[in-house]
Amino acid sequence: MMNFGQEVRAKCKKCGKDAPASEFKMHYEYRMMVCPTCFKGQPKPVVPNAPKEEPVAPKAPGWDKEDEYLEKVTKKKQEQQTSTFQSIPGSPYVQCKCIHCKYTFKYDGIRKTPSSCPYCNNPVPKYTSKQF
Ligand SMILES: [Zn+2]
Ligand SMILES: [Zn+2]
Repeated sequence: MMNFGQEVRAKCKKCGKDAPASEFKMHYEYRMMVCPTCFKGQPKPVVPNAPKEEPVAPKAPGWDKEDEYLEKVTKKKQEQQTSTFQSIPGSPYVQCKCIHCKYTFKYDGIRKTPSSCPYCNNPVPKYTSKQF
């Protein structure tokens, strides 16, 4: 005859399965006795500072994820190409806009100085001259 011992099995209120009563533990988050499986199972962490999408203007009908992606990519490209370095006509310098703090300063594209933003000290992105 099979004998599973004296073990009393109890039903877990969390998952509905039964497990040895002696292994039940008080779960601080569920505030109830749960089976070992539930006890070990990581409850989904509540992240108060979940990354939120920046508020955006109402979207036109027909706007989908792909458009959104394309817009982001385009924006990024534009930012990198137009707002980081801007040549100053008649000057060996270029206008550099720090991508971190948006501070604008003169950048010597030949000597490659300054190598970091004078305002926030973040490294200046690599300058590639568009002039041939
Ligand atoms: Zn359970
Ligand atoms: Zn900066």
